[in-house]
Amino acid sequence: MAETTNAFEMAQRQFDHVAELLKLDPQVREILRWPLREFHFRIPVRMDDGTIKVFQGFRVQHNDARGPSKGGIRFHPAETIDTVRALATWMTWKCAVVDIPLGGGKGGVVVDPATLSTSEKERLARGWVQQMWKNIGPRQDVPAPDVGTTPQMMGWMMDEYSKLVGEYTPGVITGKPVGGGGSLGRTEATGFGVIYTVREAMKHLKMDPTQCLAAIQGFGNVAQYAAIGFTELLGGKVVCVSYWDREDRTPYTVSKADGIDPRFLMSITDQYGTIDKNKAREAGYAIEPADAWLSKEVDVLIPAALEGQINAESVHKISPRVKIIAEGANGPTTPEADEVIRQRGIFLIPDFLCNAGGVTVSYFESVQNDMNFYWPKEEVLSKLDQKMTAAFEAVLELAEKEKVYMRDAAYMVAINRVVKAMELRGWI
Ligand code: GLU
Repeated sequence: MAETTNAFEMAQRQFDHVAELLKLDPQVREILRWPLREFHFRIPVRMDDGTIKVFQGFRVQHNDARGPSKGGIRFHPAETIDTVRALATWMTWKCAVVDIPLGGGKGGVVVDPATLSTSEKERLARGWVQQMWKNIGPRQDVPAPDVGTTPQMMGWMMDEYSKLVGEYTPGVITGKPVGGGGSLGRTEATGFGVIYTVREAMKHLKMDPTQCLAAIQGFGNVAQYAAIGFTELLGGKVVCVSYWDREDRTPYTVSKADGIDPRFLMSITDQYGTIDKNKAREAGYAIEPADAWLSKEVDVLIPAALEGQINAESVHKISPRVKIIAEGANGPTTPEADEVIRQRGIFLIPDFLCNAGGVTVSYFESVQNDMNFYWPKEEVLSKLDQKMTAAFEAVLELAEKEKVYMRDAAYMVAINRVVKAMELRGWI
């Protein structure tokens, strides 16, 4: 069979495989293999030069048996209905595996946000809400940021929704700026969550984090805080990150054998994730080809960029030293590469468990919005740690008991919870 590069096909193949292991009823499979609802719409935006440009937008609500659909909105030039379907499906499993009372959804716009001015971005963000407001809401579907969208955009979207419904409704969207209904700790949440699961995996494998090296793909929100977490929370060293260079229109790996300083690199990174490579070189960093991160001799690999990055071809570049792969991104590993990783016995922390920290703090954000009472950062992060650790332990316990791969175990926990909710609601 040809390698699957379509993200939704990947999500369906992963599901089919576990549905088989669970001997899931074929009628139940038919519900869960596809999203319950999809919205395709066009967003006309007045550009700064007076012309009108029309953008393609999507929202997919995969399943809301456990609660309102939940998941980010991506602004990306390569967005398609299938990437959004896949990401919405993974959100269903993600919310279920960390046991938060939410379903799965995802949205997207086909656009490169770096080509828009601030006011064009604002009109596009508001335009997205104008198309979708009747089908989102605190009890229906709650969007959030993802690749290419920011807390500021969430603030504009919340404002637009509040104006349309006629009342302040912070709970319609999460990942808002702090002071504008956002939660402390939301910025760090996904990256730190990744690191909490790495810490638990290291305990299980009896590895000393202070003696460990990591290589990270990406340098967006998830990768940045995974790098900070790995160095500052665990005391390990990160030898490289990678990023998309907007000027050269190509990705690079930025490395330093004795350990990168993530906060320094953040200080020379623009708002779209492009690192100033001249400043990096001056500070003693090497600029290497795109996939150099994958072949580094490290203990932990953290893909924290986009889907399909570890595939049938690139998986063979992984060094024999690697013991843990922590999937900070959604869907970074194709099913073919996954099989190689499983056979090599590398300990995998699957995406929807590993990167569930973001949506977990989004959930805390909406709880705080409902109470209109806000928690200190330490409280948010300690609640996040408890949730991530409990989810990791539940998945690991099942993986050991059933002698299955960690990804399959995570799917089993998540699918069982969603099926249970569908049963309790009388859907099946
Ligand atoms: N976009 C993030 C994810 O993929 C966060 C979703 C959310 O906070 O709702 O998990």
